[in-house]
Amino acid sequence: MTRLVGIFGYPLSHSLSPAIQQAAFDYHNIDAVYSPWQTPPDALASEIAKLRGDQYLGANVTIPHKEQVMRHLDRIDQMATDIGAVNTIVKEGSELVGYNTDAYGFIRSLKEGSGLEPMGKRALLLGAGGAARAAAYALAQERVICLTIANRTLSRAESLAGEIRKILPEVRAIATGGPDLQEASREADLIVNSTSMGMWYGEGEGQTMLTADSILLTAVVYDMVYNPPETPLMVEARHAGATVVGGLSMLIHQGAAAFQRWTGKEAPITLMMEAGEEALSQMVSG
Ligand code: NAP
Repeated sequence: MTRLVGIFGYPLSHSLSPAIQQAAFDYHNIDAVYSPWQTPPDALASEIAKLRGDQYLGANVTIPHKEQVMRHLDRIDQMATDIGAVNTIVKEGSELVGYNTDAYGFIRSLKEGSGLEPMGKRALLLGAGGAARAAAYALAQERVICLTIANRTLSRAESLAGEIRKILPEVRAIATGGPDLQEASREADLIVNSTSMGMWYGEGEGQTMLTADSILLTAVVYDMVYNPPETPLMVEARHAGATVVGGLSMLIHQGAAAFQRWTGKEAPITLMMEAGEEALSQMVSG
């Protein structure tokens, strides 16, 4: 029986996950097909219910379903509960179990890509959406010394800061519109963009909140956005002389962790990275 796996999202036209995951299934000769399952919010419940069929191994979940999906699952792993978002569903016996592999993917790719050890560092996080929640939780777990959460909608940053304060006392929220952001940036050892600013096809395409003059030479600048591979923020960070990491490696590592949960097999990271780069280059030329 061919097993079915896929990703729930809406819209879903630019996902790299099918190429990345299919490469891993094929490498292990697992008879499985990974598909993009474009799912509008009102169809989510019925689509999740289909996963209970024998053919299905599980699924990934992306924008805008990472929070809403939780109510349709039988059990949620502790880390996903703490983050408040699920990006991976695994069939365990008859149960649908929700996990979050974004935090793991973020920290692993940050450390591998920059050599930075977050402990004791001053961190600035741009964004307060689902990806930012995972990053904030991960940075608090890694014991950064202080964390500033900057978001266009200040109330969302304040709400996230309130939750993170339970594990990291030195956390504050600011708005991205004012001078506070530039000031926080000039003091940051680590800057993480987890907004969709700079992303192709989005409302912030071609834009960055920070320019080279507010980024330290010694800083690490990490952009979760992977399309384009070199975002406007990354360009500015390179001008500042900072160490720069793009979002593709996070996508690979969160996907690899999901693959391992579905199959129990080691994910072929290098192969998945090549498949991701190839799919991304097709997006560029297409
Ligand atoms: P989300 O929950 O929809 O949150 C979007 C965030 O971006 C919010 O903080 C939002 O601010 C902010 N934002 C959106 N447009 C903006 C604009 N024009 N100006 C300023 N701020 C803006 O999305 P998400 O799941 O957190 O994803 C955010 C980004 O991370 C996306 O680009 C996604 O592709 C990327 N991501 C990458 C990976 C990876 O593996 N590399 C994993 C997850 C996500 P408001 O609160 O004010 O609306």
